[in-house]
Amino acid sequence: MELRVLHRGDDNVRFVIEGVSAAFVNGLRRTLVSGIPTFAVDYVMFYANTSPLYDEIIAHRLGMVPLTTETTRYIPKDQCCQDGCEKCSVTLSLSKEGPCTVMSGDLISEDSDVVPVFENIPLVKLGPDQKLTLNAIARMGYARDHAKWQAALASFQHVAHITVDTDMCDVGGACIKECPRGVLDVMGDELVPKYLYNCTLCGACTDVCDFDAIKVEPVEDSFIFTLESFGNMSIDALIEEVVRIFNGKADSLLEEVEKL
Ligand SMILES: [Zn+2]
Repeated sequence: MELRVLHRGDDNVRFVIEGVSAAFVNGLRRTLVSGIPTFAVDYVMFYANTSPLYDEIIAHRLGMVPLTTETTRYIPKDQCCQDGCEKCSVTLSLSKEGPCTVMSGDLISEDSDVVPVFENIPLVKLGPDQKLTLNAIARMGYARDHAKWQAALASFQHVAHITVDTDMCDVGGACIKECPRGVLDVMGDELVPKYLYNCTLCGACTDVCDFDAIKVEPVEDSFIFTLESFGNMSIDALIEEVVRIFNGKADSLLEEVEKL
């Protein structure tokens, strides 16, 4: 297996992975989008709510606020208790009086490792004399149960293999204009796939070519993988976690096979 990073941002990474099957890469993708435990508000105790929004709507909005999860001190709720204890839950409290806009940054967490990723998410607008007092209980869960626990977006596509038949190609440039991703260019007097990793295999270049001079095919064992964190965890932590979970799953599969 070969890995090559194409782009690395604060909360995203794009890399080429070679020498693996589509099933393997899809396993990574599925684990990243649904199998990494993160913190999210799971239930809310309201002590006062004279805001224009119902308790249920505010609870839902709180659930969708991403919370930082880079800690090993907690365990997911499915491996702990029903109601929440100090091993599986963190309480975030909020008390505001209008007129004001209640923001995610107004939540005060009992653990500085589990706080809103963004402080500027509006939750509700309070008018004069309106009040909101609550305790939000955050627990670790999985996105396969609810999207609020999703830690990242992950997707992949095949790397393209573009061949240009130089005998047939008249370097007319129609394909260069037609390509929506700007993949092709002329270098010297030849058409070349200058930005190969931008190619999405859409086939616009082959459709527009009158001479069938371009061939675009997927490389069976090479993929471009894109990963974007929602902020709960850093890219490094996400990758460490996905490798740990993936290895664990492979080990348990082996054990089960050996039992048979
Ligand atoms: Zn517990």
